[in-house]
Amino acid sequence: MSVLIVGSTALDSIKTPTAKNPRLLGGSASHAAVAASFFGPVNLVGVVGDDFPKQYLALYRKHGIGLKGLQVEAGKTFHWSGEYEMNMNNRRTLLTELGVFEKFTPHLPDAFKTSDFVLLANIAPALQHHVLDQMKQPKFVVADTMDLWLNIALNDLRRLLKRVDGFVLNDSEAHQLTKEDNVFAALRKIHKLGPKYVIIKMGSHGSLLSSPKGFFICPAYPLHLVVDPTGAGDSFVGGLMGYLASARGSVDANIRRAMIHGSVVASFCCEGFGLTRTTRVTRAAIQKRVKELEALTRF
Ligand code: AMP
Repeated sequence: MSVLIVGSTALDSIKTPTAKNPRLLGGSASHAAVAASFFGPVNLVGVVGDDFPKQYLALYRKHGIGLKGLQVEAGKTFHWSGEYEMNMNNRRTLLTELGVFEKFTPHLPDAFKTSDFVLLANIAPALQHHVLDQMKQPKFVVADTMDLWLNIALNDLRRLLKRVDGFVLNDSEAHQLTKEDNVFAALRKIHKLGPKYVIIKMGSHGSLLSSPKGFFICPAYPLHLVVDPTGAGDSFVGGLMGYLASARGSVDANIRRAMIHGSVVASFCCEGFGLTRTTRVTRAAIQKRVKELEALTRF
């Protein structure tokens, strides 16, 4: 089964303490779609400007990502720029140029409206609603978000949480949303807002699932060197959704393994700037790290 991914498609300019890389392929949907593509077919919905480099379109195609829902508009592609501090955990946004993203309305081609697995990657909650308005009975919908929407579109986000099965956010966002310092208390409050499956991401400390079948603690793959963590969260949830869509059986039966696979793809994402490392990964390399994580957590 294919997974439908809607989100931002961007050019990212990223600065770390040791290097600077302008206009890389980025955006929540780009990272998530490449991650999902290792497990099965993916369709992407987003918008780019007429300045979007042809080699980036070729990269999507190389990963078999369906581009019927990628709108190309006259104007500039969404450009985001961020800078990391020495510890690589703290990041500040230097620039956000919306370009064609400002007037973006996601239109789903008819063939996408019946997708069973839908990932509403990070974009404005109003646009995530607009996607759901066009869908016909999807089986499993997961939404991602960011602190910006908690600050400026909280009501839209709260309404969205009543319409999705799963919600993925990081620990600081969970704190911002619930005012709880304890992640378990935060999880309980987030369930009350709607989603049955809640995943709190904790960066290099892994992630925590709370679901109808209970909790699961998913480790991050141990990395000695993080080159650029941009898009790791999107890679995690993209890998998770790609794995779920391709696996036989229920979501409950597969979600733990799906998180492990998402975690592994996210680890590759952190090893290079933008998507440069992820786009060179093989399925065999993913399997090898999955096995290592299995060995690391068995007791
Ligand atoms: P993450 O590292 O998981 O927070 O995701 C980083 C990605 O989010 C980058 O590739 C950016 O292009 C994208 N991004 C940054 N700001 C926004 C925004 N306001 N809306 C959607 N995507 C964004």
